[in-house]
Amino acid sequence: MGKITSDGDVEAINYDGFQLTKLDKVIGAARSNSMWPLPFATSCCGIEFMATMGSNYDVARFGMERMSFSPRQADLLIVAGTISKKLGPILRQVYEQMAEPKWVLSVGACANTGGIFDTYSVLQGIDRIIPVDVYVPGCPPRPEQILDGIMNIHELVKNESLRRRYSDQYKDLMSNYNIESNESDEQ
Ligand code: SF4
Repeated sequence: MGKITSDGDVEAINYDGFQLTKLDKVIGAARSNSMWPLPFATSCCGIEFMATMGSNYDVARFGMERMSFSPRQADLLIVAGTISKKLGPILRQVYEQMAEPKWVLSVGACANTGGIFDTYSVLQGIDRIIPVDVYVPGCPPRPEQILDGIMNIHELVKNESLRRRYSDQYKDLMSNYNIESNESDEQ
């Protein structure tokens, strides 16, 4: 019998010269350590995100320094800032253009709930138009909080089953948002 080890990402049984583990675990570790974020930043929270990108906080430690401004080459949508109702359809279009699997991080009170802007023109939370995986509270959240949100996303990604995107539960979630799931027909 080999020795069971865990390096925090992948639990494996080690034998002389080879390892046994689950495919889900390996794919999850690979995905969570190679995320390409798409920053959708509109206001003050966007500045906090820029600070998070800088050398003091340094998202390069996660291999995430390569921002993608092309939705088709991104798997993590980071929404930071106030989203007006006029901007809502653009945000939704960006989300729809991203290929599966994709995740969403909502940064700050405005993106989460509309924040202090309880007005006719501001969307009262991006989860009214797209599903959100992790919410970061604060007005604005500090870079440490944004890093915490990113690490929570990594935990979700690491532990997500490969079949989740094909599940009825996921299809129901997408249909609640009137979004056609990219993977629903590919089983
Ligand atoms: S949550 Fe606060 S800091 Fe962030 S965009 Fe809204 S008003 Fe600005």
